[in-house]
Amino acid sequence: MANTSPGAPVFYGQDAYDNLNVYLTENKASQIFILVDSNTHNYCLSAFMSKLHTDSPIEVIEIEAGEENKNLDTCNQVWNALSELGADRKSMILNLGGGVVTDLGGFVASCFKRGISYINIPTTLLAMVDASVGGKTGVDLGNLKNQIGVINNSQMVLIDSAFLNSLPANEMRSGLAEILKHGLISDEGYWNKLIALADLNLEDLDEIIEESVKIKADIVAQDPEEKNLRKTLNYGHTLGHAIESYFLTHTTKKSLLHGEAVAAGMVLATYISSTLKGFPQEKLKQVTSSILNMYGKIEFSQGDIQEIIELMKYDKKNEYGKINFVLLEDIAKPHIDCLVPNEVIFDAFIFYRKF
Ligand code: NAD
Repeated sequence: MANTSPGAPVFYGQDAYDNLNVYLTENKASQIFILVDSNTHNYCLSAFMSKLHTDSPIEVIEIEAGEENKNLDTCNQVWNALSELGADRKSMILNLGGGVVTDLGGFVASCFKRGISYINIPTTLLAMVDASVGGKTGVDLGNLKNQIGVINNSQMVLIDSAFLNSLPANEMRSGLAEILKHGLISDEGYWNKLIALADLNLEDLDEIIEESVKIKADIVAQDPEEKNLRKTLNYGHTLGHAIESYFLTHTTKKSLLHGEAVAAGMVLATYISSTLKGFPQEKLKQVTSSILNMYGKIEFSQGDIQEIIELMKYDKKNEYGKINFVLLEDIAKPHIDCLVPNEVIFDAFIFYRKF
């Protein structure tokens, strides 16, 4: 069933399981399908099942882990599995996983028999603070990110940071990029707090996750269809997605996670902001050094840069053939729909390389 409300309720910790169990009692599903990938099957499923209390029959559907599987072939496999297992319009999907599982599972649910209910239980930092919230669902088309999809909210989002105990460090860093983005686009105090934290421990994390979810959910509630304000959440993503796609297809290159590409994209966008919107120079240095300290530097050759700029033509945020950037006049002062000449993008890469 399509959920067009401005946002799904988000619950945390034990409260999340209590709300889930009440919801499942009040909205009895004919069958519950838990969608996992190979890793969340191993690390998260049994802990989750031990907290789930329902009379509805439960089936587990597993997909292969990784962005390279976020495509229509995998959707087909899940739709076939649902069909063979007798799913009907009163069935429900629980997406237990990172952004790949929540994006793909949300899309699968939104299309199956014209839409069945789904609930997101994110298990990566990135999915907790970003992918599972806001109703965007979808899959990649070849190497082009998120080209196929719909906006359709889950019934609720359940966040249990205990899942992060098994998450590898590079995946934690990937999620942190979206958290940093929330600071840059909307709250300088939050940004300063984040860069002051030398190390993230789980206690800080609970607070930070809630703060970031609130920032994202507030923005989405004001502009669910991404006509204006919601576009600010794409800060660093225009170049970030192109970098991510480029590295995904060039197997000789070091593999890059979504957040790592977005982190580089944010440095580049901040440089472009300083050139075109007067973003303060000293803050450009602070943003750049903070991000490079956390993420290191990606090597870009002249040829890489050219191909990455070429790839931006396919960014799904483009309108009327124009590449739209989000830029900042200052921290927490975003501008949307900014056109950026290619020379300035080249200059940004040169700045990044030399810094
Ligand atoms: P992911 O789902 O691929 O998860 C990263 C890796 O961690 C995978 O190998 C996964 O199997 C593993 N994993 C997940 N939970 C684990 C756990 N608790 N312990 C151990 N391993 C675990 O990737 P991601 O970074 O979570 O999400 C990236 C995706 O999210 C991208 O496809 C991106 O486009 C999408 N995204 C969507 C939105 C949105 O608004 N819909 C926003 C941001 C990103």
